[in-house]
Amino acid sequence: MDVLVLGGGYAGLTVTRKLERRLPASATLTLVDDTGSHLVQHELHRAVRDPDYVDEISVPLAEILDRAALREGEVTGVDRESRTVSLADGDTLDYDYCVVALGAETAFYDVPGVEAHATPLKRLEHAAEIRREFEAVVDEFGHEDPVANTERTGTVVVGGAGLSGVQVAGELAVMAREREVAESVEIVLLEQEETVAPGFPEQFQTATRERLDAQNVDVRTGATVTAADEATITVADGAAIDYDQFVWTGGIRGNGAMGGERPQVRGDLRLDERTFALGDAVRIVDADGEPVPASASAAVRAAETAARNVVAAATADGGFVDLAQWHWESPGWLISVGDDAVAQIGPTVLTGSTANALKSAVGITYLAEHGSLRHALGVLRKEMDDTGEFGELLKRL
Ligand SMILES: Cc1cc2nc3c(=O)[nH]c(=O)nc-3n(C[C@H](O)[C@H](O)[C@H](O)COP(=O)(O)OP(=O)(O)OC[C@H]3O[C@@H](n4cnc5c(N)ncnc54)[C@H](O)[C@@H]3O)c2cc1C
Repeated sequence: MDVLVLGGGYAGLTVTRKLERRLPASATLTLVDDTGSHLVQHELHRAVRDPDYVDEISVPLAEILDRAALREGEVTGVDRESRTVSLADGDTLDYDYCVVALGAETAFYDVPGVEAHATPLKRLEHAAEIRREFEAVVDEFGHEDPVANTERTGTVVVGGAGLSGVQVAGELAVMAREREVAESVEIVLLEQEETVAPGFPEQFQTATRERLDAQNVDVRTGATVTAADEATITVADGAAIDYDQFVWTGGIRGNGAMGGERPQVRGDLRLDERTFALGDAVRIVDADGEPVPASASAAVRAAETAARNVVAAATADGGFVDLAQWHWESPGWLISVGDDAVAQIGPTVLTGSTANALKSAVGITYLAEHGSLRHALGVLRKEMDDTGEFGELLKRL
């Protein structure tokens, strides 16, 4: 029996690790991933400020897997009728059971000029590109001689104030301060909804907004981007923003291998009798009818139900299967805003050092649990070196 897991992100890696332990020995298990590395994507914005972070958040999958075979390749299509997966290199993989965990891509919504002129933040190369572009803005506008630079300030626009937009805006604001150009380079965060972090609890939104304001990020809500060219972004009310760098974190669409769609699955995470799907690749409406937010947190938590159902279906192999149903329960939310952080646990919102320490602890635990103690220790060491709040907390213990 051949079991394929497509995508080695949060969802795919977590499912694979569970299937390694639970599938019968006779089954072959293969994880297919285009990069061959697991990206700790929820920390990707950190690599914009600190390129060394790349080593900590990119973990070779071969280092983590025990029993599963790793197939490095780009999936170009999943044919559920013939139960085959096609790869960009021309190969075709057959499957008896498949888990689709390919994640999502950045959505540009066909807004004229946005895809052509903005840089998204989804992959390591995007973080490097955003850093390069920011350095160019600093070089142009960061002159100490005020006479050389009196005409206008440099403007860096981040479009979309979800989890990634808020966090990258925070990093850029700190970079501007660290390079002592905060007066001459402004960070503008645009959001079409009336609040930052749309869809999140109100207290979390309020605390996030306060942290952004404290970092001097110019937050503009109710600002829908309608067009962009190489110099100007147009907003729905007709306002025009002249920019020097444009980062786009405005939303997600389905993976190209899924035709750009994010099909809906319910609590059993089943696309059909032999194909399961989870993570950002799909829109999940859980067993209680709750839409589940696209997040690393949900991707990891759904993996238990997906693995259980694959094993149940594979064991029954065509017979009756009583599938488990997933109920999404949010463990809370944790984001960084520059060197600050916001955590919501139940009704309690935390900021500052406690939230920061929690965020570091979650990242370190995640890496350690996924078999990469080396990377977990790397993050811990970095926290200590950088006198991060977690390091401070540890030193006090
Ligand atoms: C900057 C940033 C900050 C974020 N912060 C948070 C946060 O604080 N909290 C939170 O919960 N979420 C956060 N998120 C969202 C979170 O990262 C995603 O929701 C999460 O990565 C989804 O997990 P996934 O496993 O579905 O997909 P991914 O993690 O995207 O994994 C998909 C995997 O599939 C591979 N792949 C993609 N296409 C193909 C293909 N065609 N063929 C083969 N392999 C392929 C990819 O290389 C990747 O390994 C953040 C995202 C960003 C970008």
